[in-house]
Amino acid sequence: MSAATPNRPADPSIPNVRTCCVCGVRLKKREGEGNFRWNKRKVCSWACKLAAAPSITERFSAKYEMIPECGCWIWMGCLEEHGYGEFKGEKTKERAHRVSWKLFRGPIPTGIWVLHHCDVPACVNPHHLFLGTHADNSADMVRKGRGRAPVGEESVACKVTDAQAIEIILSGESQGTLVKRYGVSQSLISQLQLGQCRPNVQHLNPRRTKWAS
Ligand SMILES: [Zn+2]
Ligand SMILES: [Zn+2]
Repeated sequence: MSAATPNRPADPSIPNVRTCCVCGVRLKKREGEGNFRWNKRKVCSWACKLAAAPSITERFSAKYEMIPECGCWIWMGCLEEHGYGEFKGEKTKERAHRVSWKLFRGPIPTGIWVLHHCDVPACVNPHHLFLGTHADNSADMVRKGRGRAPVGEESVACKVTDAQAIEIILSGESQGTLVKRYGVSQSLISQLQLGQCRPNVQHLNPRRTKWAS
């Protein structure tokens, strides 16, 4: 054990006693403990550290936004190359919609895929997901037709026509202006402009990056 660094005097502005932010137990600065370490040490024990950490559900729930128009929960965190959300768990990164299934619906059997009813890869609404095999996924894609999803004009939840969707996608105006004009949420405007919904008109979108076609 090394002793306190002799050439770094104690900072009188930093108290050397505080309480654990979880259980209130008294914490004391250890002999030789640097100010950096001491300032980071807010809890007394591993148990209190675990208790203070946000749960996976809490971390997950902070990362999506619900879109009232279509009911999708759009992942606002990182997206991988195919437009699926990425969630960093304890150790590994996983697709966010798979994490959603596990959190809200249950375990995913080995070899089984989590598929989207809504065809929005960034959607993590557990009610828009279903379990299937690789073959089911292919059949689902064929049934829906490539790039043709039931979230277009035919959808009952549809708030803008395809023509309006195209206007929004191509518009250079502010999102606030578009929100007022079309009477839809700002989230829907962003989603359209980022290419995360209405795949049937996204071939016109110059900013389109999320739709792997
Ligand atoms: Zn404690
Ligand atoms: Zn959805």
